[in-house]
Amino acid sequence: MKNIYLDYAATSPVKKEVLKAMMPYFSQEFGNASSIHKFGRDAKKAIEESRRSIAKFLNCKPEEIIFTSGGTESDNLAIRGLIEEIYYTYKNFKPHIITSAFEHHAVIDVCRDLEKKGLVEVTYLKPSIKGVINVKSVSDAIRKNTVLISMMYVNNEIGTVQPIKEIGKLVQKLKAKGKKLYFHTDAVQAIEYFDGDVKKLGVDMMSLSAHKFGGPKGIGALFVKKGVKLHHQNIGGAQEHNLRGGTYNTSGIVGMAKAIELLSYQPSAISHQLAKLRDYFIDRILKEIPDTRLNGDAKLRSPNNINISFKYIEGEAILLHLDMAGIAASSGSACTSGSLEPSHVLLSLGLKHEDAHGSIRFTIGEVTTKKDIDYTIKTLKKIVKRLREMSPFS
Ligand SMILES: *Cc1c(COP(=O)(O)O)cnc(C)c1O
Repeated sequence: MKNIYLDYAATSPVKKEVLKAMMPYFSQEFGNASSIHKFGRDAKKAIEESRRSIAKFLNCKPEEIIFTSGGTESDNLAIRGLIEEIYYTYKNFKPHIITSAFEHHAVIDVCRDLEKKGLVEVTYLKPSIKGVINVKSVSDAIRKNTVLISMMYVNNEIGTVQPIKEIGKLVQKLKAKGKKLYFHTDAVQAIEYFDGDVKKLGVDMMSLSAHKFGGPKGIGALFVKKGVKLHHQNIGGAQEHNLRGGTYNTSGIVGMAKAIELLSYQPSAISHQLAKLRDYFIDRILKEIPDTRLNGDAKLRSPNNINISFKYIEGEAILLHLDMAGIAASSGSACTSGSLEPSHVLLSLGLKHEDAHGSIRFTIGEVTTKKDIDYTIKTLKKIVKRLREMSPFS
């Protein structure tokens, strides 16, 4: 039985160097980093070293890194934290947020929630049919009361790369003219393959999650530029500048830093190798399986992402058959699979419901081989043929 994992955007295995770095902090070095004795100080030292190492990678100051439980919490802290701070500081002011219609739920649901509570106005920008946000549409959406632009770096379903640097430039220009405006990016899917330098990107806040790039689950970070004030989201401890109380996840933090260090040594050859495999996969599917389409731009795309619509059949049915053949992929994002609603990402591109339903996301990793891809294509051809023969639509 084959065992082929093509769902790296859902999560990735912990790298062996990361696991090794983490091990001591479960048992020998178990101290609570907030304790003043030696056990505590040792844990604290490991955390602060990790913070410095992550800061170096992002080109920011260590005190600008806030550790969280992952991407979802970082997104919540950034958006809700900023809006609540503004709400409590300025009465009688209703701020405006600009985001995209195809953000991860951790961003879009927070925006919807704040909107429902009457705290903000939100503009959800539509991407192009190819899954890219136009900088001019961002610029056109800016209002007098716009305080936050939250735009993802790489889309988690279709892998398209957004013009973060260009939006950063726009924000800098407006700031220079005296506008109070903040720029947040969810970089959870980006950091492994794209520039993570917060200064070059011009962002004020950036969300990261370790388990998407070879680190452990349940640990993440939010870069918060000095001077950006957020309202605390977790009280009951003074950790992380009183923003996020709770005993430090020492092993997780050490693991995240190790995974980031490994990224900084990662040769760009890996990215090229993945992109080549990705294009091989895409070309063969589009050529050899009729009535298929690639979702998202073919070039402005993460090297690990292949998202394909198969006309006349349900994505869930394809997934089940792939799983039986030992191939793990996903439809939509892991967080929404299981629901029968079509993906909000694909709908935002303007895809019809039936096309959005028949879509599969394959995300490859460093260990994925051409042989894995060949087997997957061979299997897919059989599955699609069989399902279409049974489909009343084809
Ligand atoms: C996975 C993911 C998240 C959520 O991160 P967790 O650490 O799993 O909470 C947020 N945004 C994007 C783009 C993601 O891919």
